[in-house]
Amino acid sequence: MYGVITCPRCGTVQGADLSHARIGCVRCRRRIDVTRAVVHFSTDSPQELADAVRRLAGQRRGQEILFPSPLGTASSKGPVESIVSDLGRRKGEFTARDLSARLEIDGEELEKLIANLLATGLMYETKPGTFRLA
Ligand SMILES: [Zn+2]
Repeated sequence: MYGVITCPRCGTVQGADLSHARIGCVRCRRRIDVTRAVVHFSTDSPQELADAVRRLAGQRRGQEILFPSPLGTASSKGPVESIVSDLGRRKGEFTARDLSARLEIDGEELEKLIANLLATGLMYETKPGTFRLA
């Protein structure tokens, strides 16, 4: 039996062979106790398992887009999508630095957000670090 579980440390959604007591997280390498992990979905089919992992990982990305956490700006800024759309309409091409300034985030958080925005298809990369609305 296979199952979809979430790493308790980094939150990565991944498939696991539930007959194993422990597996290593695919991202952060933490040992996950499979017997105590929350199993979101279980199946005997490796194909179904792969589909379920993709679906759950996609939902998780969607949630991060809907609930971003720019530092202390939860109420005043509005959703990330509208900020990015506005930036794209006014400037055409925009850079990671523009996003950083408008969203007041930086570093790893900014990189993650950019990856999410690219994944949702809201914008695309025209050259490294430069983006345009899709
Ligand atoms: Zn992990």
